Order: sequence, then C-alpha cells, then structure tokens
Amino acid sequence: MSKKDYYEILGLDRNATEAEIKKAYRRLAKQYHPDLNKDDTEAENKFKEMKEAYDVLSDPQKRDQYDRFGHQAGPGGFEGFGGTGFGQAGFGGIDEIFEQFFGGMGGMGSRRRQRGPEQGDHLRYDLEMTLEEAFHGGEKVITIPRTEVCPDCDGKKTQSAAGSQTCSSCGGSGQQQYTRSTPFGRFVSMQVCGSCRGEGVIIKDPCSTCSGQGRIVQERKIEIKIPPGVEDGSRLRVSGGGEAGVRGGPSGDLYVVLRVRPHKVFQRKGSDLWIEESISISQAALGVEKEVPTIDGTASLRIPEGTQHGATFRLKGQGMPHLRGSGRGDLRVKVKVHVPRRLTPRQKELLEELAYLSGEEVGVESKGFFDRMKDAFGGG
Ligand SMILES: [Zn+2]
Ligand SMILES: [Zn+2]
Repeated sequence: MSKKDYYEILGLDRNATEAEIKKAYRRLAKQYHPDLNKDDTEAENKFKEMKEAYDVLSDPQKRDQYDRFGHQAGPGGFEGFGGTGFGQAGFGGIDEIFEQFFGGMGGMGSRRRQRGPEQGDHLRYDLEMTLEEAFHGGEKVITIPRTEVCPDCDGKKTQSAAGSQTCSSCGGSGQQQYTRSTPFGRFVSMQVCGSCRGEGVIIKDPCSTCSGQGRIVQERKIEIKIPPGVEDGSRLRVSGGGEAGVRGGPSGDLYVVLRVRPHKVFQRKGSDLWIEESISISQAALGVEKEVPTIDGTASLRIPEGTQHGATFRLKGQGMPHLRGSGRGDLRVKVKVHVPRRLTPRQKELLEELAYLSGEEVGVESKGFFDRMKDAFGGG
C-alpha cells in the first residue's frame, strides 16, 4: 500500500513555511480530533495520518530527510533522530496534543522563531577633562576601537552570492528538536543547531576581510560635543556609537562618562565654585578691595572693614554654567584672616599700641605688658 504524501495530507505544497505547516496541522487537528469524533474510525485514521505528516514536516531535520528520500526514510529511518516511532504509534494521546498546542513540550512557538537581528553592545568611554574644559564645553575627538559591520561583505559574511547557504540540518531555523519518550510522555527539547551554531546558514566562502565574521574591529574617531557646565560623572550618549549589531540589528550606543579632574584653586559644589582667600589682620579690620581669581579670569571683591575669619562672600554669576537652563552659578569666597608669624620691632610696637588703646592684655613675657606700656609712654 503506497503511503500518501505528507504535504498532500496537510494540503500544502513543498515550499510551505514552518508557520504554514503549523497552521494546517492545527486546523486539521481540530477537525479530526478523536475527542470530537467519538467512534469514528475514519476520523481517527485521518488524525493519525496527519499527525505523522506533521511530526515529520515540523522537524527540519526529518523534513529534510523526507524531502530527499521520501517515505523510505521513515518511519524506521527517523528513529535515529530520537523520534517516537510515530509511524507505528500515531496518535499519542490527548495530553500530548494539548501540550503541543500550548507550548508545554518545548514550545512550538519558540522553535519557529528564527534568530533575528540583535542590537550591538553598548560601549563606555571615560573622558577626562579639566574644570576649565568643563566650563567652556566644546568638541573633543575620541578614538575608540569598536566592532563595525564589515564594509566588504556588508555583514553578510561572504562576498559571493552562493557563499551563504541555508543550513540543511535545521532548515534555516537555527534550532533542532530532540524528542525523548519516557513512560510519562514524550518530551521535546530545542537546542541550538550544531551545524550552523544557530545562525541558520552555512558560510561556504567566507569573506576574506572579516574572516566570515561579518564584523570587524575598527579604530573610530568620534567627535563628542560637551555642553558647558558638565559635571564629574556626567554621561553623554552617542546613539549608535557602540558595537555593530548582529544580523542586521542596530548598533549599540556609546556612553561617554565625563571625568572632571579636581582643580588646584576651585572647589566645585553644583554650579557654584568656592575659593579661599587670605587677608591680613589689617585688611580684615580696615576692609580691602581684592582681586580674586575666577574660572575665566579675575574679579574684584570688596571685603568690608571688620570682616571676620571664615566669612564668605558671593560673586554672583562667576561660577560654572548651569547645565540645564541659562546663566551661571556663583563664586563663593571664604576669607581666612592671616596672622603674621614674624613682626618687625616697629610693627610689634604699633600692635602693642593698638592693644593698649583697646585695653587688651597682650604678651607672654615675665614682665607684665601694662608695666612695659607704662614705661614706654612715660606713665607712672
Ligand atoms: Zn566581510
Ligand atoms: Zn542549522
């Protein structure tokens, strides 16, 4: 008795896609399912028939065998692939059908999924800069090694039209189905195809530029636009500046992490800059107009008379540019009153006179200061 062609059973032509095979099987399974056709021998036979056809055609490896050798290859011929002996067993039971429908046995859905485009990896680059550079912003050119789509094969891994062939082991799906029968039921697992490593194609004639990788590592100069006012740790994203994608996927992004080096003079707090400025006792007491450094020059700071040690002054708009919005932060000047370590005799004399006028006791010598004052000014 000659067996019916598997494609014919499912009402498909020989070029049917995996999706079409699945669809046809689902439609027929609903129609001839034994649960819906109790005591109907013809329906049961049809169900067995189309189940067998589906078992072969849905498995890329078995389908490949069947396409080449016809029924000669099975059912015994398929045993070597870990099949269930579907030829004899036919319908395996209601549980199995349900599990197949709902993906319980390895997932019909996942098996059908071809490995699609993947985005390339993101890259990170740490860019060091001075505070002045962060202040001004501007453009910087960085050189990064990154993978790019091979320009000679356009990522196709081969330069000749016939150089890439659909993998015959998996039929291009990149995955192979392994079936195992146990007393508890039939288990189907999906594994990455060993012949093509999941790519679905075999490269017969690899591109010489990229050795069939489809991607090459290139040193690439990338211009980075740094907005004025960036902070240490600021992250700039260069969309598509990362590694090339796989199978036509988009490139990853490049993240440039900005490292602003500490400054010798300025301390930064947000968009404010802080400096310390030393003044003398006399300047603190009498006031002074001082020239202080700013990030882009100098500015004049008015220190009023009677300024205390540790007092802070604000020079509005002399800080860093606001990263968001316009304008600049402030320059904050913290005043340190410097006490002289050495005095000339005359300076000492004048300070002693000041202390005397203020009624202060000064000096650490054995002779009391007031006694000496009295001597000096002819008192007593
Ligand atoms: Zn290439
Ligand atoms: Zn394969």
